[in-house]
Amino acid sequence: MNPNLGLHHVLPPYMLEHLAEHGPEHLREGARADLTVDRTLRAARAVRPAARPGTAVAGDTPQAAPDRTVYDAQHRQNLPGTEVLREGGAAVADVAVTEAYDGLGATFAFWWEVFGRNSIDASGLPLDATVHYGRDYDNAFWNGEQMVFGDGDGTLFNRFTVSLDVIGHELAHGVTGAVRDLVYEGQSGALNESMSDVFGSLVKQYAAQPQQTAEQADWLIGAGLLTSSVQGVALRSMKAPGTAYDDPSLGKDPQPDSMAGYVDTTDDNGGVHINSGIPNRAFYLAATGFGGFAWEQAGRIWFGALSSPDLTTTATFAEFAAITVAQAEELFGAQARAVVLAAWNEVGVETTVELPDPDAEDALDLTETQQAGARPAGAQ
Ligand SMILES: [Zn+2]
Repeated sequence: MNPNLGLHHVLPPYMLEHLAEHGPEHLREGARADLTVDRTLRAARAVRPAARPGTAVAGDTPQAAPDRTVYDAQHRQNLPGTEVLREGGAAVADVAVTEAYDGLGATFAFWWEVFGRNSIDASGLPLDATVHYGRDYDNAFWNGEQMVFGDGDGTLFNRFTVSLDVIGHELAHGVTGAVRDLVYEGQSGALNESMSDVFGSLVKQYAAQPQQTAEQADWLIGAGLLTSSVQGVALRSMKAPGTAYDDPSLGKDPQPDSMAGYVDTTDDNGGVHINSGIPNRAFYLAATGFGGFAWEQAGRIWFGALSSPDLTTTATFAEFAAITVAQAEELFGAQARAVVLAAWNEVGVETTVELPDPDAEDALDLTETQQAGARPAGAQ
């Protein structure tokens, strides 16, 4: 497994910071510990070289099935813990085990059935998860190798296996890391976060019984995670960024819903969990603009943009937007182009930016080779 895929906690740093300072006394220590881990790992990740683009689709795999294993940490912090459920094993009574197993399965099914992608690395990566990590642990994370879920403290947070979009979000970081490893800083970092929200939400909409259209979906990330004593409905809202929660212990959802509210900050890796509200809402607007199931058009366009050779790992919102507009036209025609264009206009993101050429030298060589090859041999 590629360790470069990195560690991603579900709870953003600004929420942990507020919790560490204003939360219930017994939860402050845990929030501080996660903040320390986040900062150490993010600093390490910032200096590594950008990964090369991976394969977008596993075209040569006729059939694929998930290979899941769920472990129980038994309230310790040793990974992976004791194996409690392996692929195809008998059902168990522990609801956290069942939710983790089903969540990994739903995420696998989404990527395979919609994009023909065999697991997050497109090569059948086994999906492992550990539940009951630590005591009253208020977080979940993907550590580059597996998912890890805390039980939550029961006061502010429920068990972290409860939200399918959170599982989908975390595993999507693995996909993004493999397809186009958007640098986790500033706008490219916010795009990385937004990709995880987009595909995390699509996993939930796709797995719902019956499946949900863009109009029916709640567009919330982490619905069900906050207990009834918290003033809020989720960690984020893609439909209405900035409105997910407003609570004495957790603070207020800081996400802007357009470029007018763009937050310039050095916190949170340059606001990766904050400004992701802007591309999140653009996706929501595109999806509802198309209508029907969001993965059928908007999802394909966004994944097409992520996979596009035109997308650099340091892409800005405007560059990514321009690529989605081009993808929309290429995949679905002029009307689709207009829908995507309108979505980005609504959130104040330019789409007319000139794209940096990621392989200017290579492209030039290719053009010359093609021109030479097109000329009949021996022609004067
Ligand atoms: Zn994330």
